[in-house]
Amino acid sequence: MLPIEFVREYAVERVAGSRQERLTAKTIRNELEEACRKAGEGAVDVKIMAETFAFRSPRFTRWAEEGKLPAGEAAYASFDGSGFPAPVSSVNVSAIIPGKRIPAEIISFSAHIDAVPGSPGAYDNLSAVAILLEAFRTFLKNRPDRTMMFLFCGAEEPGLCGSRAFVKAHAAMLAGCRFHINVDLAGQEGGTDVLGVTAEAPVCRMLQDVLGKKGFPVETKNQVWSSDSNSFAQAGIPAMTLDRDGIGMHTPEDKAERISADVLLYQARLICEAAAFLDGQENFPFPRTVPEEMQAALGKKFEDSGVEITA
Ligand SMILES: [Zn+2]
Repeated sequence: MLPIEFVREYAVERVAGSRQERLTAKTIRNELEEACRKAGEGAVDVKIMAETFAFRSPRFTRWAEEGKLPAGEAAYASFDGSGFPAPVSSVNVSAIIPGKRIPAEIISFSAHIDAVPGSPGAYDNLSAVAILLEAFRTFLKNRPDRTMMFLFCGAEEPGLCGSRAFVKAHAAMLAGCRFHINVDLAGQEGGTDVLGVTAEAPVCRMLQDVLGKKGFPVETKNQVWSSDSNSFAQAGIPAMTLDRDGIGMHTPEDKAERISADVLLYQARLICEAAAFLDGQENFPFPRTVPEEMQAALGKKFEDSGVEITA
């Protein structure tokens, strides 16, 4: 399915833990499997997973208390006997394309599936899901030297729950992860592409330089971000979020009509160019380190969020 068709078809409210979030995860899994079917023999070694996890989040509890959860689904925010909110269950879908030559080194990608209550979440963040699916198809056709991992995570909005659960569950695999590319807020016409890079300053400059030369001008901000890249950065993996300025975030106006077919393809190419550049280097061009002060800031941010991954 073309990225724009995907956004038009599935941009409906899909709050973390809801039936609709699950259905979207299932659709993503179907899209990944469909791409593998089309690739035939070329995809026999691709691994697709759907993993559930559970979380407690003060932000989610607030939505429940304010009556903002989708009608008919308030039950999933029930409170247990101790007066604490019961854990909410959500799901991560991931796909791994093993590298041809240096499979132990991983370049990973993520985009969150869920949206806030009351918003169809086209720009935030179904567009990014469509972009990641396109990047997956691209690397399925042009097999990379290094392993590429694509994570479609649940429950970002209540506090990066899906990516945190994934990083917690897959620490051993992620020991080989050299760089993480997250996409959050994407697909609208106009606006500037910004890379929020949580890594050493030279990484930031390198990406800006390489992408600029390839015809993808970007602004960079070398700082801690507010999206799933944080979960990877906190684990010591240099990480970035691609974010495009736009309008309507977290409102009922965040509709598919504002999303551009061309911008989706352009941004998919942008992240593929960044990943292909890194993959094309004989030795990975920077160390697997995140500056200490950034890691400390991330630790505090996570603590302040009050989020707990319970399973
Ligand atoms: Zn988002």
